[in-house]
Amino acid sequence: MNNCIFCKIVKKEIPCNKIHEDEDILAFNDIHPAAPVHFLLIPKLHIDSLAGTQDSHQNLLGKMLLLAPRLAKEQGCEDGFRTIINTGRVGGQEVFHLHFHIIGGRERLPGMIHHQG
Ligand code: AMP
Ligand code: ZN
Repeated sequence: MNNCIFCKIVKKEIPCNKIHEDEDILAFNDIHPAAPVHFLLIPKLHIDSLAGTQDSHQNLLGKMLLLAPRLAKEQGCEDGFRTIINTGRVGGQEVFHLHFHIIGGRERLPGMIHHQG
């Protein structure tokens, strides 16, 4: 993907504050953190969004989910964290390269979902 900012980070054309890298996955701090800990976990492979995943991505997605709590703990989330995957327009996705937000810190995060009615 030529114009994808996260592909450029994977290719090291744009710098990032990296916290993990292996052959399939990169994790780096979000440039506009929403909490003391806020990093993004991305596949090196360009996948537009969670809605663009296929059966062939099963191992990769499993690997990402298993890595999330390990990295969260390393980053200081001793007592929990939040995982967010914004998907598509309604989900508020801004960067169309699949990413998991991992958000935490010492304080309890505010509620996110406002129930209707
Ligand atoms: P989303 O709405 O889920 O697509 O969120 C995209 C996230 O990527 C936002 O939280 C941005 O702050 C973050 N972001 C955008 N560009 C960069 C960058 N160059 N380095 C780190 N995080 C970024
Ligand atoms: Zn990409």
